[in-house]
Amino acid sequence: MALLKISEPGKSPMPHQFKRAVGIDLGTTNSLVATVPPGKSPHVIVDAQGDALLPSVVHYAEDQINLVGQPALDMSIADPHNTLASFKRWMGRSIDDIQSDDSYDYVRPDAVDGSPDASKASALVAVHTRAGAVTAVEASAEVLKNLAARAESALGGQLQGAVITVPAYFDDAQRQATKDAAMLAGVNVLRLINEPTAAAVAYGLDKADDRYIAVYDLGGGTFDVSILQLSEGVFEVLATGGNAALGGDDFDRAIADWVLAQAAVSAADLGPSAYRQLLQESRAAKQALSEHRAVGLAVAGNGVDWAGELSRQQFEELIDGLVEQTLAGCKVSLADADLVPSDIGDVVMVGGSTRVPRVREKVALLFGQEPKIDVDPDQVVALGAAIQADMLVGNNQERELLLLDVLPLSLGIETMGGLVEKIIHRNTSIPCTRGQEFTTYKDGQTALALHVLQGERERVADCRSLARFELRGIPAMVAGAAHIQVTFDVDANGMLEVSACETNTGVAASIKVQPSYGLAESQITAMLQASHQFARDDLEVRALIEQRIEAESLLDAVQAALQADRHLLDASEVQRIDSAITELAAAAKQDEVVSIKDAIARLGHQTEAFAARRMNQSIKQALQGRHIDAIADPVQDD
Ligand code: ADP
Ligand code: MG
Repeated sequence: MALLKISEPGKSPMPHQFKRAVGIDLGTTNSLVATVPPGKSPHVIVDAQGDALLPSVVHYAEDQINLVGQPALDMSIADPHNTLASFKRWMGRSIDDIQSDDSYDYVRPDAVDGSPDASKASALVAVHTRAGAVTAVEASAEVLKNLAARAESALGGQLQGAVITVPAYFDDAQRQATKDAAMLAGVNVLRLINEPTAAAVAYGLDKADDRYIAVYDLGGGTFDVSILQLSEGVFEVLATGGNAALGGDDFDRAIADWVLAQAAVSAADLGPSAYRQLLQESRAAKQALSEHRAVGLAVAGNGVDWAGELSRQQFEELIDGLVEQTLAGCKVSLADADLVPSDIGDVVMVGGSTRVPRVREKVALLFGQEPKIDVDPDQVVALGAAIQADMLVGNNQERELLLLDVLPLSLGIETMGGLVEKIIHRNTSIPCTRGQEFTTYKDGQTALALHVLQGERERVADCRSLARFELRGIPAMVAGAAHIQVTFDVDANGMLEVSACETNTGVAASIKVQPSYGLAESQITAMLQASHQFARDDLEVRALIEQRIEAESLLDAVQAALQADRHLLDASEVQRIDSAITELAAAAKQDEVVSIKDAIARLGHQTEAFAARRMNQSIKQALQGRHIDAIADPVQDD
C-alpha cells in the first residue's frame, strides 16, 4: 500500500515564525474553530460573546446583510423561509440524489435546482430565499467566513490556512463541495480530514501504542461511527457506518411527543409556532437531564395548558430504542472491520449528544470499557483539526502523523458485456493507487472507451457512473495485443484521478473525476445492502455474461478461420463445424451458463484438428525456403 507521509519542515517554530493556522469543524448543527498557540495546547476560539459554538445557521436578511450563527437561529421561527439550517445534509447533493432518498425529507419542499444550467448532472440542491436560490456550498461559505474572521481577529492577522473536517463517509462530491465552500469564503484549505481521525488526534492517540479505536459521534441530527486502526502513529479508517437521520434532535422530538401525550393533544392542536417552542423547551430539558435527575416542562398555547415533570429514567425509556439503533450501527461497523468489541482499545466520544449519561452507559456496555469523555465532545473534532493544521504549516516539528482515510464504495471500470471490474475496493485506505492491465477486444481497435464507476454490484447498470473518457491513438494491433495500464489514484482528500496508458507505445490519457454531485450516505448504505442481497444473482449474471463473451469471440475466430482456410477441411468436417457453430450461437442467446459452456467445448473439440492444420500451414509458409531441420517438434504432420 502506498503510504504518503506528511512531515513538516524541520524549522524551529520561533514565535515570530508562527503561522496562523486553524482547525474548523464544519458541523451540521454547530461549527467551531480552534488553534494551537505557540508552545501551548490547542484551544477553541470564542466569539465576542464568549461562545465557542457557532450554530450552522444562515439567515438571508432584507437589508442583504446575512446573519450567521445564533442571530440567524433566532430568526428561524420568525422568518423560516429565509433561514437555512442543517444544510450540511445536502452538501454536494443534486435534486436527483435527494429525490430518491427518504431521509432527505428535511430538505425544504421549495428545494430547487441550484445550477445555472439545469441540464447539468452536477446541479446542486438549492432553496429559495429572498437572496435568490442558495446552495449548501454558499451557506457553508457564510459559516466559514464567520469563523475565519473570528480567528483572524483573535490571532491578529490573516490565516495561512485551515484544516476542515468532514464525515469519514463523505464522498468525492461532498468533499469537493466542502472545498468549494472554503474557496468561496476565501479560506485556504490545508487539508480536509475525517472527523473521527481528528477526534483521535485530539486525544493524543497518535502517540499511543498500536490499537483499534472506535469513534462514536452522536450529534444533533446525525450518528457516525468509525473504526480506526492505529499502527506506529498512523491512523487508518477501517470502517465507517451510522445513520444520517438519527441524533439529538430525535431525543428532543421524543420528549415533545411525550409532553403532547401527557397533555392529550396533537402537534396540530398546538400549531407550528407553539410546537417549535415546545421542541426548544424539550431540548433544554434534555440537556438539563444530563446533569439533573428530573426537570419541569410546560406547554401552552392554542388553548393547551399543561405542566409536569420528566425524570431522567422516563427520558431514558423514551430514547432507549434510538440509542439501541446506534449500538446496532457500531456492531455493523465492527463486523465490517472484522473485529469484535473486545478488540477495541479505546472508544472516543464525539458530539453533544454523548453527554447524555444513558448514551455513555450503553456504549460502555457494548465495548466493555469506559469511553473517553475528558475532551469536550463538542470541541474534540475542532481541536484535533487544529493540531493537524499546526503541523501542516510547520509550526510543530515534533508531531508527525499520517492520516489515512477510507473509500466508502468500490471504484471500477466497465469491461465487455456491461460488467464492472473493481480496481479499488470499498474500505481501502486512502491515499492509494491501484492499477490493472486491460487489453483490446477487437482486431485493429485504436481507441478505448473508459467508463469509471462506483458501487459494489457486478453490472454497470447497478453501479453509479462517475466519468467517461477515451484513450485514442492506440496503433492497430490484433485483439489482445495492446497492454493498457489503467491506474486509479485517490488522493488524501478522497479525490480520484484515473489514467490509462498503452504501455507499448506510451499513448496516454487521464481524467480527474469530480463526480456529478455524489451519493447520500443512505444511498451508499442502500448500494451496500443491494450488493449483499444480490451477491449470488450478480455472480450468476457475471458468469453468464462472461460465457457469452467467450462464445462470441470463439464464434468470431472460427468464422474468420473458415473464411481463410476452408480448403483444409473436407465436406463432413465443414458440416460438423457448422452445426457446432449453430448450436453455440443458439446457446449464447439462452440464459444457461452450463449449456453455453458445453457448446463452447463442443465447437472447440470439432475445430481442434482444423486449428492444428492451420498452424501447421502457417508454419510451413513461414519456413518456406529454409532447411527442413529448422522445423521444431510440435510441427508434425497429422
Ligand atoms: P453536530 O455534530 O450535528 O453539529 P453537535 O455535536 O454540536 O452536533 O451536537 C448537537 C446536539 O448535542 C444537539 O442535539 C444538542 O441538544 C445536544 N447536546 C448538547 N449538549 C447536551 C447535553 N448537555 N446533554 C444532552 N445533549 C446535549
Ligand atoms: Mg459534529
